[in-house]
Amino acid sequence: MALLTTLKSIGNYFREIYNGVTSLARGMRVTGKYFIQPSSIVTQQYPENRATLKMFDNFKGELILKHTEDNEHFCDACNNCARKCPNGSIEVISKREEGPDGKTRRVLDKYIYHLDMCTFCGLCVQACDQSALEFSNEFEHAVFDRNNLIKQLNHPDSKVVEKQAETKEPNTPTV
Ligand code: SF4
Ligand code: SF4
Repeated sequence: MALLTTLKSIGNYFREIYNGVTSLARGMRVTGKYFIQPSSIVTQQYPENRATLKMFDNFKGELILKHTEDNEHFCDACNNCARKCPNGSIEVISKREEGPDGKTRRVLDKYIYHLDMCTFCGLCVQACDQSALEFSNEFEHAVFDRNNLIKQLNHPDSKVVEKQAETKEPNTPTV
């Protein structure tokens, strides 16, 4: 009886060695295949491919306020996007200034975006009837200081496109 148990243990021992070696060989066969056929690799070699990596078009990387080549944006500071944002990731700070017609009007002062809080739901983009917002494909957001994830989206010295400002009612209340 004791001899039978010992033989069983020895058998199990060699069976485990055999399983380990065949499993390793299977893994190495896949590695070898990709080594001699690198074109068949589907895994992205990030960050080595940083220069050529392209995300798919509707990828939501980071909210941006669109600007024209003349440094004009389309935001009339209506605050709809901030109201729709479920977690307060947007602050629209407006100010009053005199328009070309001499009337006082509301314009955007600062558009603050809290990337550290954003869940990329896209509700803000949908809420904007001026199509002033969109998502960029930028996905590298690692920073050492979390404050760097709080961004002002309107560029320095940018202004609202004049047509935009003229089509809006002045003094529209915001909530
Ligand atoms: S994508 Fe969603 S969470 Fe992010 S700012 Fe827009 S509404 Fe807020
Ligand atoms: S981005 Fe659009 S919704 Fe948000 S404040 Fe500007 S115009 Fe209004």
